[in-house]
Amino acid sequence: VADYKNGEWTDLRIVPYGALDLHPANAALHYGQSIFEGMKAYKNDKGEILIFRADANAQRMNESAVRMCMPEIPEEVFMEGLLQLLEVDKNWIPSGKGASLYIRPYMFATDNYIGVKPSDTYKFIIFTCPVGAYYSKPVTVKVETDFTRATEGGTGGAKTAGNYAASLFPALQAQRAGYDQLLWTDGKSHSKIEESGTMNVMFDINGTLITAPTNTGTILKGITRDSVIRLAKDWGKPLEERFLTVSELQEALENGSLREAFGTGTAATIAHIAKINVNGKDYVLPEKTPDAFSYKVLHELDGIKYGDIQDSRGWIVK
Ligand code: PMP
Repeated sequence: VADYKNGEWTDLRIVPYGALDLHPANAALHYGQSIFEGMKAYKNDKGEILIFRADANAQRMNESAVRMCMPEIPEEVFMEGLLQLLEVDKNWIPSGKGASLYIRPYMFATDNYIGVKPSDTYKFIIFTCPVGAYYSKPVTVKVETDFTRATEGGTGGAKTAGNYAASLFPALQAQRAGYDQLLWTDGKSHSKIEESGTMNVMFDINGTLITAPTNTGTILKGITRDSVIRLAKDWGKPLEERFLTVSELQEALENGSLREAFGTGTAATIAHIAKINVNGKDYVLPEKTPDAFSYKVLHELDGIKYGDIQDSRGWIVK
């Protein structure tokens, strides 16, 4: 925990997990100044603790802070807090393939008032939670063309609570209709695929990987997405950072040129998409074959995270 007051971060401390004391007029509860991150630490067979790309999370948290009128957290404060906490929590980190410690850093306004303005004080908290071996089961998705998650000029590129609140109602409707997640489209024309609820998405069409660009401010700059792009470039896999249109997607599903589609995110890592609903029509994707690009990526990322594959890209913080 750290507190921001009088223009600086103070009182970095570790406290037992427990309830927070909030004033009824807490500004974050009313006006939504609340940002967060999600990351993981891994313990390997040698007992070493490895954190994947924590510096990228610290940087993204600061980008979110700027958009939400909140103070940035110096990267060294973020990292020091994280490493101190992991030292205390190290025995809680499960070891073994797939298991990890989920890490949730977040920051929220702590001024108490009624009135729309940025708070002067904030709290930064990191808490952790052991998570068991994940199994990224294939997901079913529906292309959403009625509701909008994020629109240009909005807060879609920030990891802020309100984006997730806005997505709850449409996502619930999709779940009731039998789909795990939505594939969001752009807010203007609803013709371009953006991302899913908790993952960026990638499509392999005729061997070329296509994923939406993140410079429109409407899509979260996923760290897994960035890692997959880096691997694709290093391995010479053709890649296009551009918007796939809904009609292009439907055509590729119709004519069989869509080889695979998958989501990328910290929680799921790489999630194979098994079914896509486009314009009310369900398309079942081909089974994932052992030569799928996503298998290779998953193997490489897991290998790096547990220290089995040399981290030649500087992604691991110990
Ligand atoms: N998009 C959204 C909306 C998300 O919540 C997440 C999860 N943080 C992602 C994409 C994937 O980002 P990352 O790879 O950094 O976990």
